[in-house]
Amino acid sequence: DQISNLTVAVRIRPMNSKELACVGAADIVRVRNQELIIRSNPCGNSAMSLDHIFQYDHVFWSCDETKPLYSSQEDVFMTIGKPLLNSAFRGYNACLFAYGQTGSGKSFSMMGRNTCEVVDIDSEDFSGIIPRFCRDLFARIGKLGTNATATVEVSYFEIYNEKIHDLLATANAANKMPLKVREHPEWGPYVVDLSVHVVSSYKELRNWLILGNKNRATAATTMNENSSRSHSIFSIELCLTEDLNESDSSRRSKVSLVDLAGSERLSTSHNSEEKIRQGVSINKSLLTLGKVISSLADHKKNQFVPYRDSVLTWLLKESLGGNSLTCMLATITPANANLDETLATLRYACQARSIVNRARINENPHD
Ligand code: ADP
Ligand code: MG
Repeated sequence: DQISNLTVAVRIRPMNSKELACVGAADIVRVRNQELIIRSNPCGNSAMSLDHIFQYDHVFWSCDETKPLYSSQEDVFMTIGKPLLNSAFRGYNACLFAYGQTGSGKSFSMMGRNTCEVVDIDSEDFSGIIPRFCRDLFARIGKLGTNATATVEVSYFEIYNEKIHDLLATANAANKMPLKVREHPEWGPYVVDLSVHVVSSYKELRNWLILGNKNRATAATTMNENSSRSHSIFSIELCLTEDLNESDSSRRSKVSLVDLAGSERLSTSHNSEEKIRQGVSINKSLLTLGKVISSLADHKKNQFVPYRDSVLTWLLKESLGGNSLTCMLATITPANANLDETLATLRYACQARSIVNRARINENPHD
């Protein structure tokens, strides 16, 4: 088993024009080595400023591309995406999830830049981790020896209000019934009747990605979904079979790339418990994710982990404290107006960093 901590990375996006237009707008994020410093001015007086210092596995400062410190989409992919791809080829499960308040850069990092309501997954500079991961996956498959074969299957779904919707369902299967989660004794939790699509090239995979992104955007507009409240999960299953003289051996791995709902309703500064009492709807999956992370971070023996309390955490069970190599990408904004949300995200990310997973190679030797 490969025992490892959850890798935690933080990314800071540039100030946007709305933030810059605010009276008293200030950039409160500094990066020094791998340390992240948030400077707050509790009394609006710079002589009284307070520094909050955080440490992570990686800090991506993406505020100004003319500066040497700048991290591009490619840098982010090479640092946190590529290692997961390498692990997948060795037969390990992998998961990468983006966490942060709405507008902080989760979808930009995971999928790419949104231009005219469509995500551009082909841009050399701006496409995100998911398209880069998939392009590299097929580039690597193309380099496999003649005694090896690879099969790739993809699925893509979203969780909205604790209901699962297939983003790749074909027209005749498109009954709008939400799908259910079930747990297989050996392979763990899965979505029943979710469509899976075998793809043999990046070009084929790309079409599914485009369809899924389109369906996600359509759900947001025509079904009155608030897109900041849905989680989307793109999964790739890779099966590698090697023909070794007398025997075959195969390795299977599942990679989940997750764009979570906006974390703002969870911020302690907004008192989520109070909101629940008042009957204000809160994202159950995200709330449970927080509980799962804090109980895993606690490291007490026989600690009960409430995976099954939400759809998201049940499905991510193996990625959190289980058989997977997992990375969390926390996204923040540099603007002083978002100080409370930023601190809440950074504290959450610190807690996640102490989670330990035991990943093992999923191997099936046959004779
Ligand atoms: P989220 O998915 O967290 O709600 P988005 O990814 O949609 O946020 O980002 C919000 C806006 O900020 C978008 O217009 C996006 O293009 C822009 N943005 C986010 N991250 C970056 C970045 N690293 N560099 C440039 N623009 C970014
Ligand atoms: Mg988004």
